[in-house]
Amino acid sequence: MKVGVVGLGLIGGSLGLALRPLGHEILGVARRPETAARAIELGIADRAGCDLSLLAEADLVVLCTPIGAIEPTVRQLIPHLSPNTVLTDVGSVKQAIVQAIEPLWPNFVGAHPMAGTADSGIEAALPDLFVGRPFAITPTDRTPTEAIARVTAIAQDLRSTLYRCTPEQHDRAVAWISHLPVAISASLIAACGAEPDPETLALAQSLASSGFRDTSRVGGGNPELGVMMAQFNRPELLRSLQRYRDQLDQIIGAIDQQDWAALQTCYEQTQQARSAFVD
Ligand code: NAP
Repeated sequence: MKVGVVGLGLIGGSLGLALRPLGHEILGVARRPETAARAIELGIADRAGCDLSLLAEADLVVLCTPIGAIEPTVRQLIPHLSPNTVLTDVGSVKQAIVQAIEPLWPNFVGAHPMAGTADSGIEAALPDLFVGRPFAITPTDRTPTEAIARVTAIAQDLRSTLYRCTPEQHDRAVAWISHLPVAISASLIAACGAEPDPETLALAQSLASSGFRDTSRVGGGNPELGVMMAQFNRPELLRSLQRYRDQLDQIIGAIDQQDWAALQTCYEQTQQARSAFVD
C-alpha cells in the first residue's frame, strides 16, 4: 500500500519505521524541511517533504500531527487527494476529530493506537512501538466498509490488538486510563516539587526510585499533548477527575479517622482490580 504519513514525530515516525520494512511505500509530510530530511536518513519514509501534494497517490493517509492541527491539515489536504484515498488519524481523542473530519471526507476512519513514550519528535520514533498494544478504531454508521478494512489491515501489520468502539465510548474509556493518569501524575510531581523545605525536597529527589518513576512517568511526558487531551476531551476528563477526587477524599477520610480497616478493604480491592486493567 502507498501510505501517507502527515506529522513525522513519535507516532508518525514509528509508523514509518514499522510499515516500510513490510513493503508499504511511505510518503512522509513534515512541517519543517529538517524533519522531512531526517525521515529519509532514519529510513522512516521513501519520499518526504513539506508539501501535501506528495500524498496525491496515497491509498491511505494517516494524520499524525498534534490533535489541534488535524482538522486544518485535512482541509489543506483534500484538494490533493483522489476520491478513493482513505484517511485515518492517530489522535488521542475521537469525538471531536470524527465530528470534524467525517463531513469533510466520508472515506475516514478515526483511530487511536494506544502506545507512546515520554519522548516526542522524530528522534523518539521506535519500530516496535505498536507491537502487542491496543489499537482502537471508531467507525460510525456512515464509514465505508472498505475504509475500515484498509485501516484494520494496517493495525494487523503493526501487530497491534484491534478494538472497535464508538467515538463516545472511546473518549469516556480513554479519559479513565490515559487522560486522567496524565493529570494525576502531573499533580503528583507538582505537589512533591512544592515541598517547602529545600533539604526534604533534595532528600526526596535522591531517594526516589522505581515507585516514583512508575507513578510520575506520564506526568513527565509531552505537555502539548496533555493540554490537547484536556481541551478536546474536557467533559469526560472532568467527569473522571471529579470521581477520582471523591475516591481521594475517601482515602483521606480513612487515614484522618485512623480507620485502618476501611483502608485495608480499599487497598485489597484495588490490588485485585488492577489486573483487569494491566497484566
Ligand atoms: P510529536 O512527537 O510531537 O510529533 C508531532 C509531529 O507533528 C511533529 O513531527 C511535528 O513536525 C508535526 N507538527 C506539529 N505541529 C504541527 C502543525 N501545526 N501542523 C503540521 N504538523 C505539525 O507528537 P506525537 O506524540 O507523535 O503525537 C502525534 C499524534 O499522536 C497526536 O495527535 C497524539 O494525540 C497522538 N498520539 C500520541 C501518543 C503519545 O503517547 N505520544 C499516543 C497515541 C496517539 P516537526 O517535527 O516538523 O515540527
